[in-house]
Amino acid sequence: MSAKSVVGTGYVGLVTGACFADLGNRVTCIDVDEAKIALLREGGIPIYEPGLEELVERNVRTGRLSFTTRYEEGIDETEFVFVAVNTPPGPAGEADMTYARAAAHSIAEHLRSSAIVVNKSTMPIGTGDWVAGVLARQGSVQAPVVSNPEFLREGSAIADFQRPDRVVLGADDRPAAERVAQLYAPLKAPILITDLRTAEMIKYASNAFLATKISFINEIASICERMGADVKEVARGMGLDPRIGPAFLDAGVGYGGSCFPKDVQALAHMAALSGCHPQLLRAVMDINRDARLSVILKLRSALGGLEERTIGILGLAFKPNTDDMREAASVEIIHLLQQEGAHIRAYDPAAMPKAEALLTRVRFCEDAYETARGSDALVLVTEWNEFKRLDLRRIHSLMASPTFVDGRNVYEPSEMAALGFEYYGIGRAAGGGDLINGERSAQEINTPA
Ligand code: NAD
Repeated sequence: MSAKSVVGTGYVGLVTGACFADLGNRVTCIDVDEAKIALLREGGIPIYEPGLEELVERNVRTGRLSFTTRYEEGIDETEFVFVAVNTPPGPAGEADMTYARAAAHSIAEHLRSSAIVVNKSTMPIGTGDWVAGVLARQGSVQAPVVSNPEFLREGSAIADFQRPDRVVLGADDRPAAERVAQLYAPLKAPILITDLRTAEMIKYASNAFLATKISFINEIASICERMGADVKEVARGMGLDPRIGPAFLDAGVGYGGSCFPKDVQALAHMAALSGCHPQLLRAVMDINRDARLSVILKLRSALGGLEERTIGILGLAFKPNTDDMREAASVEIIHLLQQEGAHIRAYDPAAMPKAEALLTRVRFCEDAYETARGSDALVLVTEWNEFKRLDLRRIHSLMASPTFVDGRNVYEPSEMAALGFEYYGIGRAAGGGDLINGERSAQEINTPA
């Protein structure tokens, strides 16, 4: 069994480590977070990711997967060191490289056998060259660097690892990239080998493109609201064109999470600092912010102000099937509602422990129905499956007033209106107008005076 190390045991590192172990490799996951490693060693899992607990347990049991805080133990005699540390947003929009720098120095200090360092973290273009420089200057053994950007999605991370659309490997040392490619051979995925900087850029460009699709449809949604069209039908009509495709054309309260916001921001930052004027990327970020604010505007107009109103929030995680709260739309929406004097009740199937650490003055509830009880309005922020099959009559009966802002267009405007809700979707004017039970119909909005 060949030895692999993974530095950084978070969403990417733990999934990568467990999946490589499952392919028959001996993997040691290293992290500086002692509590996290202690929990993993006791059989606990620090994150919510479907299927991960069983995968980790199985590979620990066979002795292929282990955890440590000690670099000297973790990368001793390893052949491949995968770097999966966090690269969070810095104060000026740049990628904060504090953790990546510390990891590079620790690897250089402790690597004793010739190995390949594989950057999985999303790192600014040029980082691979920088890491290679650190290893060459400080390391005692030879260690080429390969960029291997990660494309897994939280919520389906294991399947994404096991059946990737593509594996991208960037290296200025092609034999090193080919050795990493062999590790992925069992997955039978297309493998693209490029130079280091191109691979780094593929990751940023991919995330920026997906974020652009989301902001594009959100801009179309706000035009739909004013012009009497239904963005869901517009997206369906667009997505049937194979040049466009249906993915990432769901209008809503915008993108969040640990990747899109910081990566679009970091790419714009890099572009500006290299003399470009990244106006499309800036517009993407601007529209995303407006998408969140639109929830406040809808609630204000529906309730005639937010002071002393009770708002129920359905879903806190940045998307379904994860407990990740990083850059979740819920955080900004709750903060803005509280600023305007609203009281918040909230529920999420997985993210409440993490949300409790981030949010204050929120009444956390045990399910959607308790959240609805006494609320003047409900906002569906995260489209968990359990929010798609609510007993809406019961929800309606529990609310103080039946205003429903559907931030993910889960429900049909006409059906919600028939149930007696004052329903606001995102860009769904044609379903009876943005304000379904309001005075102005979509028809009237569109009719020239
Ligand atoms: P995370 O915060 O969940 O995990 C990072 C881990 O690295 C933490 O456990 C932290 O304690 C550890 N760490 C920090 N400094 C360290 C050091 N010097 N030595 C050892 N461990 C250290 O982050 P994540 O979500 O797994 O993301 C990791 C990278 O992968 C980021 O660059 C991110 O942009 C990228 N990425 C993330 C996703 C995703 O869905 N989360 C998808 C694709 C790419």
